[in-house]
Amino acid sequence: MSITVSALRETAAGERRMAITPEVAKKLRGKGLRVLLERGAGNAAGFPDAGYADVEFADAAQVLAQADLLACVLPPDDAVLGRLREGSIVVGQLRPHGAAERIATLAQHKLTTFSLEMLPRTTRAQAMDVLSSQAAVAGYRAMLIAAESSPKFFPMLTTAAGTIRPSRVLVIGAGVAGLQAIATARRLGAQIEGYDVRPETREQVESLGAKFLDLGVSAAGSGGYARELTAEERAAQQHALAEHLKVFDAVVTTAAVPGRAAPKIISTAMVEGMKPAALIVDLAADSGGNCELTRPGERVDHGGVVILGPLNLASGAPLHASEMYARNIYNFVELLIRDGALQPDFNDELVAKSCVTRHGEVLFKA
Ligand code: NAD
Repeated sequence: MSITVSALRETAAGERRMAITPEVAKKLRGKGLRVLLERGAGNAAGFPDAGYADVEFADAAQVLAQADLLACVLPPDDAVLGRLREGSIVVGQLRPHGAAERIATLAQHKLTTFSLEMLPRTTRAQAMDVLSSQAAVAGYRAMLIAAESSPKFFPMLTTAAGTIRPSRVLVIGAGVAGLQAIATARRLGAQIEGYDVRPETREQVESLGAKFLDLGVSAAGSGGYARELTAEERAAQQHALAEHLKVFDAVVTTAAVPGRAAPKIISTAMVEGMKPAALIVDLAADSGGNCELTRPGERVDHGGVVILGPLNLASGAPLHASEMYARNIYNFVELLIRDGALQPDFNDELVAKSCVTRHGEVLFKA
């Protein structure tokens, strides 16, 4: 009997993405798999049922009763997971950190589950790297929000009413999201600078036509990530940044250190030194924010400087975010199939490192 791959409508508040797009459903069918989706599951992402060829639709209960593999964007409720058959596989962003109850549910129902945020950032994993694909969407959206929310134009404009100077924009944190934010600001015509503590980002920032802001603090960690700054480094960074921040019209912050709360980089005093009507879009709001004044999901006006803390930015461009996400899912699912059956190879580091529970056994280490 062929393997049934399924997805449900995402139920997290504000979530519009869909784990299986028509393109990926077709590829799964091409592999001889059966695709069974909840009716209307793709609507919010811009994929109505009619756009899926050769796919079956049912209500959520029927989908859960028949799925061999459930793909998701965000973790389904524990009650939903509990309705999957014993031994089923779940693939998605399961957010296992600090989610002991969810992990217990996965184990209790003897599910085998994979959380793609845990994949190592190796070359082979790139095609499945949901952190990268969704961070690119988030970086793009953060810069659009900055441009839309700023009281100034981003590009230079020469008009009969005079010349408007381009906005000066800074991106703090030049990882996947930050580089996409820089590229977007360039396309919008802003005068753009990028800053990061990893020295190798200088070349990446400059290759996008932006200027690298050098604050003299270098903090490369392991695995290509940044490490947390020491107290002295943080003080040096803050001192240098405070002076520079005074010239910018908009700042997009994306700094993160894996497994830690977002580093606080912009203090209240630094905000108070910024230009009137300047703007900060804090993409790190989901993990606490890079600015001391950020309130996740809210708009804060501090003496005329506005700080925005938008949440789940990738969901705001759901069609393309889903297309990229679903391809990541497909590439990972391909790894799990051998000889026409779902047989994850736990000797493969991509399989082993992303596994949260294996038929009820908890493999996730916090
Ligand atoms: P991330 O989301 O963990 O962090 C975003 C950025 O914030 C990083 O560039 C980091 O250096 C920076 N940062 C952290 N603390 C800071 C501070 N105090 N001040 C300023 N900046 C600070 O990172 P990410 O976007 O997920 O990517 C991190 C690295 O992983 C990059 O080197 C990226 O190229 C690499 N990567 C590799 C692959 C691959 O080869 N498969 C895939 C994706 C990412």
